[in-house]
Amino acid sequence: MQKAKGKVISVNESLVGTQITQGAVMNGEVAYIIIEDGKRLKAEVIDIKGGNKVYLQVFEDTGWMRVGDPVEFTGLPLAVKLGPGILGSVTDGLQNPLYELGEIDWFLERGLEVDPLDNTKEWYFTPMVEKGNIVTGGSILGSVPEKLFEHKIFVPFSLQENYTIDHIVEKGDYTIDEVIATIVDSSGKKMELKMAFEWPVKQPMPFKERSVPTKPMPTGIRILDALFPIAYGGTACNPGPFGAGKTVLQHSLARHSQADVVIIAACGERAGEAVEVFKDFPELIDPRTGKSLMDRTYIVGNTSSMPVAAREASVYMATSVGEYYRKQGLNVLILADSTSRWAQALRETSGRKEEIPGPEAFPMYISTLISAFYDRAGVEILGNGDMGSLSIIGTVSPAGGNFDEPVTQATLLSTGAFWGLSRALSDARKYPAIDRIDSKSKYPSLLKQEEVSYLLDLLRDGKTIASNIILMGEKGITDASYIRYQKAELLDAVFLQQNSFHEVDGVTHPDRLRSMFEMVKEVIDTPVDIKGKESIRSHFNFIRQAFLDWNYMGQDEAGIEKQQTKLLNLIKHRGYVAENI
Ligand code: ADP
Ligand code: MG
Repeated sequence: MQKAKGKVISVNESLVGTQITQGAVMNGEVAYIIIEDGKRLKAEVIDIKGGNKVYLQVFEDTGWMRVGDPVEFTGLPLAVKLGPGILGSVTDGLQNPLYELGEIDWFLERGLEVDPLDNTKEWYFTPMVEKGNIVTGGSILGSVPEKLFEHKIFVPFSLQENYTIDHIVEKGDYTIDEVIATIVDSSGKKMELKMAFEWPVKQPMPFKERSVPTKPMPTGIRILDALFPIAYGGTACNPGPFGAGKTVLQHSLARHSQADVVIIAACGERAGEAVEVFKDFPELIDPRTGKSLMDRTYIVGNTSSMPVAAREASVYMATSVGEYYRKQGLNVLILADSTSRWAQALRETSGRKEEIPGPEAFPMYISTLISAFYDRAGVEILGNGDMGSLSIIGTVSPAGGNFDEPVTQATLLSTGAFWGLSRALSDARKYPAIDRIDSKSKYPSLLKQEEVSYLLDLLRDGKTIASNIILMGEKGITDASYIRYQKAELLDAVFLQQNSFHEVDGVTHPDRLRSMFEMVKEVIDTPVDIKGKESIRSHFNFIRQAFLDWNYMGQDEAGIEKQQTKLLNLIKHRGYVAENI
């Protein structure tokens, strides 16, 4: 079919109106606007009005665009190139590599398109099919080693018929541009396959079977793993006011979660925040492998200074790459910070299109888009008993920290865990500032269910007593209540609070979480027969200090057992306090 052509008739920031002069266009197809100096600016069809008037959202600065500039339509939707070489890369939302273009060249030169994947690099391909085998979309043709994994080479997912292998290359080194297999369909038509292929980013990849996420994914963050866990294939919503710790939490999750592959969709809050991610991450060492963290990471990002339309593309790019690595049989984690930036981009575009606005001027369909995004997470059952999972954790940054706004609410309804960041906790520097009472999760914890309830009960009691203290003063409550309150405070201080920046305390493995929980339980279960608020307080202060010292000691560090004994003695026999400290 002949591709459509048109010309620019209006420019409203990133929304460009065009008149079709030849052919017909599809919603979602990619177009290029050719500006005066011959540069081609990438855009996407977002609305078709009455046949020959089409709105484009342009992914680049439209500053130099003129009415009358020619437009070329491609007939193809916005796509991601999938194949070996994605891990370790840093791209923008259109999969332009940001490194190859000179040291993190943020403000990519306009209209410059670079191959998304390195097509000069050779990969050692080992075939797994033979001539005559029957294959279909998703069948495995062979594999190549990519960093830490065996990267499976698939028949493109869009090919849904059955095909016969006509030719497959020998074991050896090939680039992603070389043909590795030829397949024939039932009518005898031949098709050449390479190691990389394209996928339309807005379309979820087809899958045969899914299963419910039930296996907890350890994150190394105690409050999450114990009280508000996420499962492999699960989703979590992390709303919080500015400066409450969303980004710090996301970085900690990126480094310490027990996922195989981490995808960071960085839509910066502050200008420059995403750039920091791009600069910092490549220098980080993976605590599990001792190698670069980038070996199992893909970063796609936009800063607040890039055109709004590109933010949306980043979110879809991340999701499609996530689905692809799930098909590899891996556990993938997408960290999207902040999805509010994406929603704001939609709001801007919707406003320019003069659509009927929903609450707070967000488009009516915002909740549909948000839920479609989180729906792409999940556990996928692959052939041969293999499984892969895609988990999504998105931050939301509601203006003024008001969780009643549409984006937070839509996200809350679409996700299985809610980690609300509290301004009061972050002001008190009680990090991670995840609300202890209002947060929740439907996934199983690393602790037993009754243990979780046991901790939550204490926290609720502690909160009630704390408000009584505010009302009536310490004198107004009994010693027994005060002891219960001190136990809740201790649980918060030594177990729920965690210093992300400390080498040991920053990450807690499941076995250590268990022993810390046992120790906390020891404190909670041990009766305290001390009289007077002052003495009760000082008793708990001693325990707290000894507990924190123990927390900061590595599992194999000399003296950790001694510290543990000291702590137990403090908890069990307070006489030890007077004699030894
Ligand atoms: P947000 O992304 O919500 O705007 P940030 O994640 O940038 O907020 O956090 C703001 C600051 O709060 C950080 O620079 C850091 O000083 C402090 N902070 C947040 N979380 C922690 C944590 N877990 N441990 C120690 N400090 C923290
Ligand atoms: Mg942030």
